[in-house]
Amino acid sequence: RHALGSLGKSRAKFISAEETTGVTFDDFAGQEYIKRELQEIVRILKNDEEFQDKGIYCPKGVLLHGPPGTGKTLLAKAIAGEAGLPFFAANGTDFVEMFVGVAASRVKDLFANARSYAPSIIFIDEIDAIGSKRGGPDIGGGGAEREQGLLQILTEMDGFKESTAQVLVIGATNRLDILDPALLRKGRFDKIIRVGLPSRDGRLAILKVHARNKFFRSNLERDALLQEIADLAVDFTGAELQNILNEAGILTARKDKDFIEREELLEALKRQKGTFETGQEDSTTIPEDLKIRLAYREAAVAVVACYFPDPYRPFIQASGEIKFIVSNTDISTISSKPNMQYAEFSGKAFFRKSDYVNLIVKACTPRVIEEEMFGIDNLSWISAKATSEASRHAEFLILQTGMTAFGKAYYRNLSDLVPNLAAKLESLRSEYIRFAVEKCSSVLHEYHSAVETITGTGTQIIACFYVLLEKGWIKADEIWDIYRKAPRIPQKPVRP
Ligand code: ADP
Repeated sequence: RHALGSLGKSRAKFISAEETTGVTFDDFAGQEYIKRELQEIVRILKNDEEFQDKGIYCPKGVLLHGPPGTGKTLLAKAIAGEAGLPFFAANGTDFVEMFVGVAASRVKDLFANARSYAPSIIFIDEIDAIGSKRGGPDIGGGGAEREQGLLQILTEMDGFKESTAQVLVIGATNRLDILDPALLRKGRFDKIIRVGLPSRDGRLAILKVHARNKFFRSNLERDALLQEIADLAVDFTGAELQNILNEAGILTARKDKDFIEREELLEALKRQKGTFETGQEDSTTIPEDLKIRLAYREAAVAVVACYFPDPYRPFIQASGEIKFIVSNTDISTISSKPNMQYAEFSGKAFFRKSDYVNLIVKACTPRVIEEEMFGIDNLSWISAKATSEASRHAEFLILQTGMTAFGKAYYRNLSDLVPNLAAKLESLRSEYIRFAVEKCSSVLHEYHSAVETITGTGTQIIACFYVLLEKGWIKADEIWDIYRKAPRIPQKPVRP
């Protein structure tokens, strides 16, 4: 009786206005446009009447989507903090229960609570746990229950119209693709904001936020060090960047030092990556046959990147280099992605159709080179990964850009397709893949000698220190040098 008594109660954590005001938009760095959008919502939330007179209404739901650790929860709290509103934090998994009626009543309870404090904010993290597509496979059971919970959310959000009490619902997910489309309809989560991985400038800004309470010898030294870490921490999330600074602080304290220095920051970065880079002394930890494959893959990817220079993400800058990056615990965790680092372009990217097609060609590279060098019966997981990557790019081009013979419509995903369209997609996709594989193979054929030189297996045309296999790394300007000087074999023509 006692345990069941609380079943219908929402497990949402209530945070009063006084507590949330601690978090502001200043705590979120990078992706300034997200802040601008949300600041506008805060203005409307605060001056509800003034805006209503002008016929402007606050959105009922804001959906933040993107990888974990990119600051979605932080943004939700900042909205509450900036608007000075109480905040109810729940998690989609709180509503997934096997008992009949519990999910729906928990949702009801949460909304009733929030309404009694209105204006207020409800934050539902991992909303996909309750809001995934209906009628899908019911893994783990509780499907009908979850459906009831989802329906209740929809009912509650639709109900706001009548009541004047303003409750803003913020949802967060990293699986936008599996959300039930009903949630995204007008009047529900009609503001969808992507919170992506930060750019290089974004990473620097985030590091600066988290360096505010840390000690450095001088501001000048701090800024130079943070810039260096921002350059190295490609694809890191805000949460990971924060960890680097915390870890560096701990290392500094452990050494009884007063200031964080380069050494601690680099050590913390390394720990956060969970990897170390193989120098001469460690390179034996990769089995020789895998090492050769990896070297060919990196070399081929580099050559194709030189061939299709990307104006928006210029191929590794002169100071960049390719390395074998290997986990210190387990060979199976060796990244299946090429290790090349791209210099990032911090302006707005603008892609043309040919750029999309080139992406497919580039993605095929690991597969094409592996087949060429090791034979079709001797492919490895490197090829499997490349195949899925290339297909993903092709599907995106066909389904979501309206630039191909498939048509001008946008399709969210494959399951949107009626059967005859699926067949059309299939034939177009294999056409694009065929073209990409042939084009890639033709480029690699033309520049075969450059690939061999970078790998370090061929006859050395320049000098033998360009040896990826022996040194484990190569600088980008050396790659460019080899690429430009290598003897070329004329390309075979490729049918478009
Ligand atoms: P998510 O909800 O997207 O998984 P969180 O908001 O929980 O991510 O992020 C965890 C922590 O990482 C935040 O509390 C914050 O300290 C830090 N963080 C993440 N992104 C950023 C950012 N863009 N700017 C500043 N800090 C960030």
